[in-house]
Amino acid sequence: MRLTDHVTLVASGAAGFDLSDPLDCHAYLVRGSRRSVLVDAGAGRSVHSILRNAGTEPDHLLLTHGHADHAGGAAALAEHLPGLRVLAGAAAVRWIAEGDEEGLSVDKGRAAGVYPDDYAFRPCPRVEPVADGTEIDLGGGVVLRAVATPGHADGHTCYHLRTPAYRALFSGDCVFTGGRISLQNLHDCRVPEYAASLTRLAALDVDALFPGHHEVSLARAGRHLAAARDTVARGLMPRSTT
Ligand SMILES: [Zn+2]
Repeated sequence: MRLTDHVTLVASGAAGFDLSDPLDCHAYLVRGSRRSVLVDAGAGRSVHSILRNAGTEPDHLLLTHGHADHAGGAAALAEHLPGLRVLAGAAAVRWIAEGDEEGLSVDKGRAAGVYPDDYAFRPCPRVEPVADGTEIDLGGGVVLRAVATPGHADGHTCYHLRTPAYRALFSGDCVFTGGRISLQNLHDCRVPEYAASLTRLAALDVDALFPGHHEVSLARAGRHLAAARDTVARGLMPRSTT
C-alpha cells in the first residue's frame, strides 16, 4: 500500500489494516534513489508477503524495538536477504540476537493470549546496535535518522525521515495518532523515560506520522506529537492503546 513517494506499507496486522499476518505490526519500506530499507519486520509469519509487497530487496532492516510483533520476523528476513543489515537499539540487541523471550516479554504476551501457544521468537544473531543520531542515506535527499526513545520498551528507537518534499516519523510503539501511547505492564516499560521520549519527539519537524499500529497521518502530524508532549507537561501520561 503506497503511502507517499518514498514510503510503502508492506505489512499490517489486526491492529492495523489486515494487509498481512494478524500478529504483524505495520512494516514500512522506505525508498531513496540508491537503496531501500525496511522499518520493522512483523512477527515472522508473513515474510513472503512482505518481500512481495516490497517489490525490491532492502539492504537494511531498522527495528523500532524487540517486541515480537515488530522484530519476530527479523531472522526470517535476514535468511531471505543475505546482505541485509539488521539494526536495533543497543539495549534490545542481545535479546533479539538470542531470542530471549523473557527480555522481549514474549512469555507475557503468550500467557496473555496475544501470541499463540506455538509462537516462538526466532533468534536473529545478525542484529547490530544503532546509536542515537545514526543517519542512513538512501540517496536522492532521502535520509533516515535514529532517535533513541526508551519508555515503551528498552532500546526503543524511532526513525526520522527527511525527503526533499516532507519529513516523517516512524514511531514504532512510542506514539500514535492523537498522541496516544502504549503503556504495558512489562519489565522494561518505564514511565519517566517514556515521558522524556515524548517530549523529545515533539521537537522534531514532521509532516507525516507512521506508527507501528493503527492509523497513519499524512499531513500536519506534529499535532499528534504536541498532544503527547502537552499531556506529559501537565504531569500526566497520554491515553494508552495496544
Ligand atoms: Zn511494543
